[in-house]
Amino acid sequence: MKYALALVNIKGLGVKTFSYLIPDEMKDKIQIGQAILVPFGRQGLVNAFCAGFSDYLPGDFKVKKISKILDETPLFSIEYLKLLEWVANYYCCDLVTVLNAAIPMKLIEKASKTEQLVEFASFEGASKRQVEVLELLKKSGKMPLILFEKYAKTTRATIKKLEQLGCVKLMQEELYRNPLDILQITKREALFELSGEQKSVYEGIKKHLKDARQILLHGVTASGKTEVYFKLIDDTIKAGKNVLFLAPEIALASQLTKRLAKKFGTEDVAIWHSSISDGERYDVWQKLYKNEIKILAGARSAVFAPLQNIGLIIIDEEHESAYKQTTPAPRYDAKTVAKKLSEFHNCPLLLGSATPDISTYYRALNEGNLFELKHRYNNAKVPPVSVINMQEYGRAAYKNIISIPLQNEIKETLEKGQQVILLINRRGFSTFTQCQACGHVVECPNCAIPMIWHAKDQQLKCHYCNHVEYFPDFCPECGSDALKNSGTGTQKIEQYIMDLFPDNNIERIDSDILTRKGEHIRLLEKFQRKEIDILVGTQMIAKGLDNPNVTLVGVISADASFNLPDFRASERGFQLLTQVAGRAGRGEFAGKVLFQTYNPDFYALASARAQNYLEFYETEIAAREEFDYPPFSQVIRLVLSSLNNFRAEKSAQEIALRLCTMIEKFGVSERLEVLGPTPCVIERINSQYRFQILIKNKLNEKGHQFISSFLNKITLPKDIKMVVDVDPLDIL
Ligand code: ADP
Ligand code: ZN
Ligand code: ZN
Repeated sequence: MKYALALVNIKGLGVKTFSYLIPDEMKDKIQIGQAILVPFGRQGLVNAFCAGFSDYLPGDFKVKKISKILDETPLFSIEYLKLLEWVANYYCCDLVTVLNAAIPMKLIEKASKTEQLVEFASFEGASKRQVEVLELLKKSGKMPLILFEKYAKTTRATIKKLEQLGCVKLMQEELYRNPLDILQITKREALFELSGEQKSVYEGIKKHLKDARQILLHGVTASGKTEVYFKLIDDTIKAGKNVLFLAPEIALASQLTKRLAKKFGTEDVAIWHSSISDGERYDVWQKLYKNEIKILAGARSAVFAPLQNIGLIIIDEEHESAYKQTTPAPRYDAKTVAKKLSEFHNCPLLLGSATPDISTYYRALNEGNLFELKHRYNNAKVPPVSVINMQEYGRAAYKNIISIPLQNEIKETLEKGQQVILLINRRGFSTFTQCQACGHVVECPNCAIPMIWHAKDQQLKCHYCNHVEYFPDFCPECGSDALKNSGTGTQKIEQYIMDLFPDNNIERIDSDILTRKGEHIRLLEKFQRKEIDILVGTQMIAKGLDNPNVTLVGVISADASFNLPDFRASERGFQLLTQVAGRAGRGEFAGKVLFQTYNPDFYALASARAQNYLEFYETEIAAREEFDYPPFSQVIRLVLSSLNNFRAEKSAQEIALRLCTMIEKFGVSERLEVLGPTPCVIERINSQYRFQILIKNKLNEKGHQFISSFLNKITLPKDIKMVVDVDPLDIL
């Protein structure tokens, strides 16, 4: 053991590994995961992490020595690095890319774990203005310096002066910033008594936990899956092990963390997602490594948090696409990584959903690891769904969009003082702008997709590249002035609903509001407090809302989600409709659901209407088997793009050809099928022409190794970009 591999954070490039010589005096102290100090080029001494050892150098160069071990307690383990290596191999990318996603840069830069505090000492010698500041400080007691500056509207210079005068004391103190402290939870709530059905499922799962790896809890919406999770969590921590609990998005993870903290105490619970502050992340990381956290809740990136001694991993709403990172690389799926993580810890992985991923359900069914909650808690009824055929009702509808039956139902619901959810799966005002004279559709100049009118900003926007334009006066094709917005987006529905129900409180939730921080959570809470009568939104409102006063859910255009040329479109559409329907009638009042559609007989819509998962599953799995789509194969997608259409196509053809040749040579063409190249459904994004190659892999991880080693041999010309996406969410 002569050399150490150090992870160094290079400004602008991210984390990379470099070799350093281990000085003799450090040889028996140095460990993987320790923070170390190393010399690095012109940057001088920088913080780094020890990530491995070797007796040889990867090349012929002069190495420098490690200067110091900063902290003897390591922050991650060798198993942790092994997990990251596995991720790199599975997703056909390099370890450095995975490291960058998993180990936050700030963690590496951070040298001090302390915070500067300020405390009142005396009034002596202070000026009149300074006395005011000191009085504030005296009242508030010891306080973080940064906070005090803001609070007293003063400057660092003033405080330094006060320190010289002996009026304040400044000190460094190690602080654990617990974001849950603001909840001020003093008394823990007891767990609920499980209902009969919940209890038998809980006991079944418990028996199964010992030998099963992956268990699916398929429970209809509002069946109380969360209560079953809580019992299992309680058992796990009582047995001295820790729990990792993932929710699909930050807003849901925050809600969940609050519920967990109320039941299990703020001390033992922590939260982890991409938007917690660097300070919090550093603190939680340390606590995790010291085994001081029992339950870690978070969004997808929490799968990389170094939680120790895991006894159970729970992934709630496991069907959600948000578990997969689409960009940038690594394009990992937290569910897949969690599966591997559970193998490392030799612990079970529990997946829960009302509308499981087709592949998850297939596996659970075949492996006998399926548990079902078929009834809502307290015998609340799953709401009946009515279908409104817009071919009949459309003409009489308000602006051809909100049918009379839907209007009537909304009116009745509001009269009873209950609340309404309206789903429209398109943000913006309209879906396209079309010339009534020649049929020309206004497209983004960079991407081959229609621009979308946003009435609030009076602009046309591209939802792919954010290109913005004013509404053209004349058609760019034929010069006519007959340009019209068609189709319907969230903003238009919001406007129409305001026209129809001018006396009610109406709000909209879609990704446009995410630009304002905390707005999503704020609106959800307002809705929960009954301060909003009608909530209009995209799929963002279909998730996780548990508001017993919602008794009507309307879907404006139930067809919209099915009309994408993608093998998962039916599955996504079915899930969305079932989930949003599940928001109605969760409490004591019965709920109702209305789907407006032009295509009432479509199988996925019919199954969603009947709330019949199994029926949908059986049709869908047969189609997947026929076309060899997942779970019967794994899809690996290569997208080649270039500003030059011809060059993009040519390089895609070359790569496909070389790949096929290699597959032939190794005699695996039965198990690795190459489709394409074809132009992507969205042929151009950001001015880049796009071509795709789809690989259907039936070799499992060997297939990944095969593709990885193939890709490693490829060098692309500078003007060609390639994206490798393993288990892609869509193929658009
Ligand atoms: P799911 O996650 O299956 O959609 P939830 O766990 O959110 O369902 O439960 C739905 C509602 O029923 C929640 O408000 C929950 O508190 C309540 N609930 C479920 N099970 C119980 C129980 N055993 N005792 C009391 N309330 C329960
Ligand atoms: Zn025209
Ligand atoms: Zn664009």
